[in-house]
Amino acid sequence: MKKTYQGSCHCGAVRFEADIDLAKGTFRCNCSICFKTRAWLAGVPASDFRLLSGEKSLRDYQFGKRTIHHRFCEQCGVRSFSQGSDPKGNKSYAVRVNCLDGVGLEELMDAPVRYFNMLHDDVKSPPAETRHL
Ligand SMILES: [Zn+2]
Repeated sequence: MKKTYQGSCHCGAVRFEADIDLAKGTFRCNCSICFKTRAWLAGVPASDFRLLSGEKSLRDYQFGKRTIHHRFCEQCGVRSFSQGSDPKGNKSYAVRVNCLDGVGLEELMDAPVRYFNMLHDDVKSPPAETRHL
C-alpha cells in the first residue's frame, strides 16, 4: 500500500514528499554513479512526488547519455532524489529511501531489493555480484 513519506537532504534545505509502496520494491544499481554513492532507490512517478522546498539549493549533475538529472543539495551534498524518465518515457523520480524521514528501519529491511546491471546497460538481469552495492 502506498504511504506518503517526507524526505530531505542532510541540512534540511531540500524537502520533499513522495507516495511510495516500499513493499513493491526498491533497487540498487552498479552503474558508475550508483556505485560511488551507494544509491538505494525507489522509483516514483512524477505524479507521486512533490518538492516542498529547496529548488534553489538543488544543483544538477548529468553524465553519459544525460538522460537523468542527478540532483544534489549545494549545502550538504546529499543526493535525496534524481529525475528522469521510466522505461515507457513517463517523467519519474528515483528517491533515495535512506533520505526518507521517519521511515521505520523494519520497513526498509522488509522492502524487496532488485539489482540492476546498468554498468553493462542491462536492465533485464542482475549483476553477477551485488554484495558491494
Ligand atoms: Zn542539504
